[in-house]
Amino acid sequence: MNTHISPAIIMRIKEFGESDLLVTFFTSDRGRLKGVAKGGRKSQKRFANCLDLFCLANLEYELKRKGDLHFLHSCKLVHAFPGLRSDFTSLSLASYIIELTEILFPLGVTDKEMFELLNNAFVALNEGGKTDILRILFEAKAMALGGYKINLEKCCGCGRPYAGEGRAVFKRNKGCIACLKCERESKHSPGLGPDTVKVLKLIQASPWSEAEKMDLNDEMIREIKPVIKLHMEYRIGRRLKTAEYLD
Ligand SMILES: [Zn+2]
Repeated sequence: MNTHISPAIIMRIKEFGESDLLVTFFTSDRGRLKGVAKGGRKSQKRFANCLDLFCLANLEYELKRKGDLHFLHSCKLVHAFPGLRSDFTSLSLASYIIELTEILFPLGVTDKEMFELLNNAFVALNEGGKTDILRILFEAKAMALGGYKINLEKCCGCGRPYAGEGRAVFKRNKGCIACLKCERESKHSPGLGPDTVKVLKLIQASPWSEAEKMDLNDEMIREIKPVIKLHMEYRIGRRLKTAEYLD
């Protein structure tokens, strides 16, 4: 048998057949996987309280061939994150986090950092962190891990390095900033002050523990939001379904 145990976040659960459950989970060592829990709707012994949405659990599973459903043997709950279900906004943000992860990471794409990011975001949300800031942190970091980091180093028009002074303009089709000589601020090319550029750069590059401590003021939040929104819509090609519950 090809049995593994991995810490995993439960992303989706669906009833399957008479008594089984179809489970999508994000593991620390094999990325996002899909498996079936035989008798999962009845077996309280093998799957005690851990096959619940958003839970962190140690999953024991048998790897099947690529494309097949894996086979879940048992699981042990590590963290239930009850705060994620305590109000509509937290629940919506948790669902949004899952949807964005699914878009950026197809089945079987391993990324330990993405697993850590998911877990850290859920810990912070569970502890009652501010949802608008957590959303920005998660979006910016997840996009960067998914290969869509915003280039904040230089103007993508003239190539001049951004020295951290003066306003910059976001260009969605290039995923970068431009100087005011090359681009004018508009609804489709929102501007960013130097402090906002600095903070966004740090969010993309620093570990969660540091990013979380950053002091984002209202102006930074107001400037970052449209930039990330345009960036995501351009790169992903559509708006996330769960976004409507958050906006
Ligand atoms: Zn320029």
